[in-house]
Amino acid sequence: MVESVVIIGSGPAGLSAAIYTAREGFSPLLIGGAVSGGQLMLTTAVENMPGFPDGVQGPELIELMRKQAERFGTRFVNEDVTGVEFSSKPLVVRTESNEYQARSVIIATGANAKVLGIPSESKLFGHGVSTCATCDGPFFKNRDVVVVGGGDTAMEDSLFLTRFCRSVTIVHRRDAFKASKAMQDKVMSNPKIKVIWNSEVSEIIGDESVSGVRIKDSSGRVTEMQAGGVFVAIGHAPNTKFLAGSMRLDSEGYIITHDEVLTDKEGVYVAGDNADRYYRQAGTASASGIKAALRVREYLQGMQKGHSEE
Ligand SMILES: Cc1cc2nc3c(=O)[nH]c(=O)nc-3n(C[C@H](O)[C@H](O)[C@H](O)COP(=O)(O)OP(=O)(O)OC[C@H]3O[C@@H](n4cnc5c(N)ncnc54)[C@H](O)[C@@H]3O)c2cc1C
Repeated sequence: MVESVVIIGSGPAGLSAAIYTAREGFSPLLIGGAVSGGQLMLTTAVENMPGFPDGVQGPELIELMRKQAERFGTRFVNEDVTGVEFSSKPLVVRTESNEYQARSVIIATGANAKVLGIPSESKLFGHGVSTCATCDGPFFKNRDVVVVGGGDTAMEDSLFLTRFCRSVTIVHRRDAFKASKAMQDKVMSNPKIKVIWNSEVSEIIGDESVSGVRIKDSSGRVTEMQAGGVFVAIGHAPNTKFLAGSMRLDSEGYIITHDEVLTDKEGVYVAGDNADRYYRQAGTASASGIKAALRVREYLQGMQKGHSEE
């Protein structure tokens, strides 16, 4: 059997693509990963999703999207995709136990924030440790927070956090930032931001929520600092390893697209954080899932027309 559309990924991008393609009658097969639901499964309150004036819990939002996709006939498989073959038709998507053939594929596999891997980081994730300032910043009103990183994201996060937090301390392991000069200037001239150079956060302190950090400098000296939050801003890793050799990826593994959701492979579309190093929000991922679905519609209708004219 050749599927009309296979969607890889069960976060907001994949589920939004499923809602649209299912409602249009394409009966999508969604291969959602061994651990399904994506990044929103890791969070509690989502307060910035339009349509939820009182906020919504991340897992609940995913459950609602999933129900909506199911209602129109999406079929779900909870497996990881391990490989693809996009150079011939039909397109092929492989998991450990199956091989699926498809006319079109939407890749919506997201990206995971890189973490420090230090004591208490995972225990306190969501309890003062965050990887998303845009998502969580407003929860940290009047707190002293630490930002770890030295690139543009760390600068943007720090500047954004000054709108809510009492102070922001950037801890950076080198003696200079990688971020653009313009961003650095804004950071360095902001009176709420302080920088600790040549140092690493070696431990996060706190029982139920973050109360401080231990900071190790390049000479090995460890000091303790009180803090009400830690934002880890050291980059993201797109979930695209299984595409290596089959799709064009950039040096960090993001899928190279044009017009946001199109790729250089006919019938293959991309949605969400795996091609987005800038916005990384549930709403933007959802929007690109919808765009990919509308492109799939156009593509499949073009195929049908081609057949009927033959
Ligand atoms: C802690 C936290 C809090 C956040 N809070 C907010 C918030 O308040 N508001 C907001 O708008 N955004 C928030 N975000 C960001 C938001 O979650 C992401 O931008 C959004 O989930 C991206 O959607 P996506 O569908 O592109 O990817 P993801 O949500 O990452 O989903 C990717 C999916 O692909 C699957 N997958 C990966 N690899 C494979 C594979 N090989 N085979 C099959 N499936 C695979 C995964 O299992 C997952 O289902 C938060 C993120 C985090 C981490």
